[in-house]
Amino acid sequence: MGDILVFVEHRSVSLREVSLQIISKADELATKLAGRLTAVVLAAKADFLPSDFSSRADRLIVVEDERFSDFDFTAAAEVISKIIKEQSPHLVMMGHTPWGMDLGPALSVRTGLPLSTDCVDITLDGTRVKTVRQLYGGKLFARVSFRDDSKGCIITVRPGSFPVAASCGRKGELVRIENAANLPASSSRFIEYLDTGAGEIDITQAELLVSIGRGVGEKERIEEIRELAGLLGGVVSCSRPVVDRGWLPKYHQVGTSGKSVKPKVYLALGISGAFQHVAGIAGAGTVIAVNKDKKAPIFRVADYGVVEDLFAFSDALKEELGK
Ligand SMILES: Cc1cc2nc3c(=O)[nH]c(=O)nc-3n(C[C@H](O)[C@H](O)[C@H](O)COP(=O)(O)OP(=O)(O)OC[C@H]3O[C@@H](n4cnc5c(N)ncnc54)[C@H](O)[C@@H]3O)c2cc1C
Repeated sequence: MGDILVFVEHRSVSLREVSLQIISKADELATKLAGRLTAVVLAAKADFLPSDFSSRADRLIVVEDERFSDFDFTAAAEVISKIIKEQSPHLVMMGHTPWGMDLGPALSVRTGLPLSTDCVDITLDGTRVKTVRQLYGGKLFARVSFRDDSKGCIITVRPGSFPVAASCGRKGELVRIENAANLPASSSRFIEYLDTGAGEIDITQAELLVSIGRGVGEKERIEEIRELAGLLGGVVSCSRPVVDRGWLPKYHQVGTSGKSVKPKVYLALGISGAFQHVAGIAGAGTVIAVNKDKKAPIFRVADYGVVEDLFAFSDALKEELGK
């Protein structure tokens, strides 16, 4: 009772950040539940795991098979559902990623456990698991509570929803399963990863984002904001219209059709605060908004708001930073 199982993802032979976020949250929940935390890694060779990774779980189950060099949905669903049936965890967690979106519903059907997808928060009411999900691109938040008599539950977690803990201090027992037998023939075939253009910067890892919206007015003025970001030691991100107009490449875009970000500080300049944008900054720390329209919806989610022309604000801040 109270055990948690986390499905760990990798891509191109490296551990995915989302799995560290989830296992950090799982550690917190497992402590409250006084349960054991198990991490499951399916890989051709799991030697990409950081040396301290096992300390993040009580037990690390590594299933090594060539089929798992990339995501093999059929084989993964077979192996994980078997582990769930054997161990009956209270909670199963995985990323709301292409892998998790495939795997979560399949595991729910195979194990009969209820599923809550795309969760941005997870809490406990006693031993009962509750989640918060975003609906309609972040316009609505739904609170989901699993039934008391549920024999467990499965959750897919939106990337960026939880911070990564420095360490978890668990003494990971390693269980290695090689050449998992009787894997069924695949119903799909992995072909390749198509790079969406990671670009020179990764806005998902930035601690300070200076984000520009349509209010910047023209491409030529973005350089002024770059200078500000440079002085602040931050990175430039943007809203979708900035990408649609070809002012910045897609990898700068924050939001439902862009990236979810989790900077310590998010400085939004000339961004109205449409829900598709705001959904991408749910994991941000302090949000500072600058907009010349005092009724702009971005002020509803901002910790600090400045009603001002963004360039006047930027110039004043640069002057202060230059002193
Ligand atoms: C399916 C779908 C997916 C979408 N996905 C995304 C997404 O991932 N990310 C995203 O951002 N959007 C997304 N959108 C678009 C979204 O609905 C909004 O249209 C968009 O976020 C608005 O961008 P904006 O705030 O930059 O522009 P606007 O809404 O035009 O706002 C510009 C703001 O700048 C202010 N402003 C103007 N000039 C100045 C100035 N000089 N100084 C200060 N303030 C000024 C204005 O008052 C205004 O509030 C999506 C839409 C759809 C339908």
